[in-house]
Amino acid sequence: MNAPSPQPPAVRTTCPYCGVGCGVLAQPDGYGGATIGGDPDHPANFGRICSKGSALGETLGLEGRLLHPMLRQPDGTLARVEWPLAIERVADGFTRVIERHGPDAVAFYLSGQLLTEDYYVANKLMKGFLGSANVDTNSRLCMASSVAGHRRAFGADTVPGSYDDLDAADLLVLVGSNAAWCHPVLFQRMAKNRRERGAKIVVIDPRHTATAEDADLFLPIAPGMDSALFCGLLVHLADRCELDYRYIDAHTQGFEDTLAAARAIAPDLAATARATHLPKADVARFFTLFRTVPNAVTCFSQGVNQSAQGTDKVNAIINCHLATGRIGRRGQGPFSLTGQPNAMGGREVGGLANQLAAHMAFTPDDIDRVRRFWNAPRIAMREGLKAVQMFEAIARGRIKALWVMATNPAVSLPRASHVRDALRKLDLFVVSENVLANDTVNAGPHILLPAAAWGEKDGTVTNSERRISRQRPFLPAPGEAKPDWWMVTQMARRMGFGSAFAYRSAADVFREHAALSAFENDGRRDFDLGGLATLSDAAFDALDPVQWPLRAGAEPRRVRSHGQCEDRRFFADGGFYTRNGKARFVAPERPAPRAATGKDFPFRLNTGRVRDQWHTMTRSGQSPRLGAHLPEPFVEVHPADAKAMALIDGGFARVATRFGSCVLKVAVTDRQRRGSLFAPIHWSDATASAARICDLVMPETDRYSGQPDAKATPAAIAPVTFAYRGFALARWPLVMPDGTWWARVAVPKALGLLLASNDGPETWRGCARDMFDDGAELAEYSDAQRSVYRVAAFVDGALVGCLFLGPTEAAPQWDAVKPLFEADTLADDARRVILSGRSADGLASAGPTVCACFGVGLATIRAALQSGAATSVETIGAALRAGTNCGSCLPELKRIVADAGAASAPTATSAPATVPSDTPARDPAVTA
Ligand code: SF4
Repeated sequence: MNAPSPQPPAVRTTCPYCGVGCGVLAQPDGYGGATIGGDPDHPANFGRICSKGSALGETLGLEGRLLHPMLRQPDGTLARVEWPLAIERVADGFTRVIERHGPDAVAFYLSGQLLTEDYYVANKLMKGFLGSANVDTNSRLCMASSVAGHRRAFGADTVPGSYDDLDAADLLVLVGSNAAWCHPVLFQRMAKNRRERGAKIVVIDPRHTATAEDADLFLPIAPGMDSALFCGLLVHLADRCELDYRYIDAHTQGFEDTLAAARAIAPDLAATARATHLPKADVARFFTLFRTVPNAVTCFSQGVNQSAQGTDKVNAIINCHLATGRIGRRGQGPFSLTGQPNAMGGREVGGLANQLAAHMAFTPDDIDRVRRFWNAPRIAMREGLKAVQMFEAIARGRIKALWVMATNPAVSLPRASHVRDALRKLDLFVVSENVLANDTVNAGPHILLPAAAWGEKDGTVTNSERRISRQRPFLPAPGEAKPDWWMVTQMARRMGFGSAFAYRSAADVFREHAALSAFENDGRRDFDLGGLATLSDAAFDALDPVQWPLRAGAEPRRVRSHGQCEDRRFFADGGFYTRNGKARFVAPERPAPRAATGKDFPFRLNTGRVRDQWHTMTRSGQSPRLGAHLPEPFVEVHPADAKAMALIDGGFARVATRFGSCVLKVAVTDRQRRGSLFAPIHWSDATASAARICDLVMPETDRYSGQPDAKATPAAIAPVTFAYRGFALARWPLVMPDGTWWARVAVPKALGLLLASNDGPETWRGCARDMFDDGAELAEYSDAQRSVYRVAAFVDGALVGCLFLGPTEAAPQWDAVKPLFEADTLADDARRVILSGRSADGLASAGPTVCACFGVGLATIRAALQSGAATSVETIGAALRAGTNCGSCLPELKRIVADAGAASAPTATSAPATVPSDTPARDPAVTA
């Protein structure tokens, strides 16, 4: 008898979601799937991963994958073609447009999801060989203001610190950063520092986010007023003589002018409190904390970056660190938390329209240097168009050929509908993608190229602390999928640039990228990977995570445990990358909203992320565990605004701006500011009927960074009423009738839709028969008096579809029905009770998911609290395991425990407990 073959070793790779860049171990199962766990040896996470990382194994299916090159036919359909023909059409199309209209008529729109090697080759072809700098990326929407702020202050896009600083800081200031949800592993590191070392956490955000739950001080700042707060802090530090004049004199310039400008904006505590709409005592507490602790780190993210004055906000923060000399030392510094998995790699490559390559700019010296290194015949001589301007140029017909790689601009850019219309005007529209359908693919590309996905790709990514990690393949690329760097290389060869694009592997590309970073560098540029430029293929394969700057002459080495990180920080002793080596203080402009609210649009629309989804849900939307947390697109409204606008919690509202409208579930919560609305960015036309929120976002951009302001669009809100609610589940995609509000939710072995409608049971009975009556056996239940209709469809004893509809006030729940789709055939008793909506085994529903790692629902947690089986977050963990893995749900668990305590306290009647509306508890379609 043959011995069972030993399991292959787990593959060491990197999570494809956020900029924390966690190392993960992928253990393939031999059937196209894999088990995913945290890599204990990776210095970004030391084995921890969050709910999104834990669910990666659920996202590896090939359902909906684009597997072959496709070419648009004269009749408008797409037909499969061979790679050589697809490449020929792309290359010849770009050549033709350049010949007729010049190099600025073509563009690449890239992505922070690309690997560094993909980015490098695309940037090189466009800027060095096609002669245009029209290469921009979705990172423009993410951290462009941080890049611009760094370059203004430091002379280079340098993140000075390391994650290690989050363990050593005495004060952690989080500005515009919901790190508990968006950088969960880092936030747990900060929470540990608070628990174990007593570090203080200050959260500055217009919304009381999950991150604020763990704060020692929460400052609910007026939208857009961050610069005023940090100007006030600079003035306060100066007036208290708490500045590091030795550092200011030796290593900086422009301090006096900047201090004078700060005084004009926020001359004292009272003025700062007035400008920021914060209580004076809280502002004073923050200033005192910052002034008195030895070590402070200020982390900032999209709440700072995604602003028409985002670059000024970044510089206002950096000013305070420069003025106190708190930069580049352990536990000190400004820290940009990057959103995307490889936004930093894209920045290193120069994959933004206003960068050239390898942290070099469009200066005559840098242009000449890069031209000689690449031996480039037609190097771009000036900056290209940044994302928003790029799509405006497409709309105006100035750009005629575009290649979109690994991103979904028809969902994510401001005025997304306008973007979709613009894409249809292109003479040549190329998309390289993983999926057969999303809003950008549905905008009608002429050529679709199948791209390798996470788990199949080979290369490197860089995280927020400048640490380069390998993404390694652990699954074969399906069909004819190829890496993006390979596609661009083929295009370049077809265009006659073969000798400059002779790469055989990702390792070849990486070596050249590293060599360019070191070319004529001699310490003049921060980014220098010269020590990696001669890695052998085997060394590249085995490359351990390595942070730059590299030690001179040293090979990277594995950092095995916490606390062993080498000091690779920047600027403790100056050495900035400006002409005179001194950092620049930058005086921010007086903060003011770019677009005014008024009678028609009295609110400000803020957009952002939720805990368990990523970008436009192309990957995370496949995971049933992740989909169970917040399954529907929603808008958060303050209770007083809700009352004024006649909105009810769990009802629906139309949110409108000058640019479009969406219909979203209403979540009434006092964690939202009065006058502000918050809606998540994740849903698209592919996943919901009317929830593509970026359709509504204004195209205002920061003048330095070009980053759009996604946080402050003037908006209106009004109630929308649906008489009926329900759900549909099926083994195949269902098309909903016009007028139905729907949201797609991942469900094991089925496709799920949560519904709302004004059509009654009789209309739905007819629709349901069209949906399911294809040889299936139907079981129906209807109660005209109660307006209830339910239907289940069976084939060979298996449940293949169902639809439940009822009046809004008694909406059916699907928790008992969903698991029935996992069975191949159903027992008679299960079939009998299915239309009751109850589970055959009589078990209570766990309710909507709170802990995605262990699938623990709200009802289960509440039951444990009610029965006394658990009394605290810790005992919930002990009894149910909830919150004991990644910790992303800990803030939510705290609220549930607090609400349970408030509900049982004798004084609760005098102060009604508010269940925060982004907990699933207020989701009537699921819980009613
Ligand atoms: S924090 Fe979560 S999403 Fe971000 S890299 Fe780590 S596991 Fe991935």
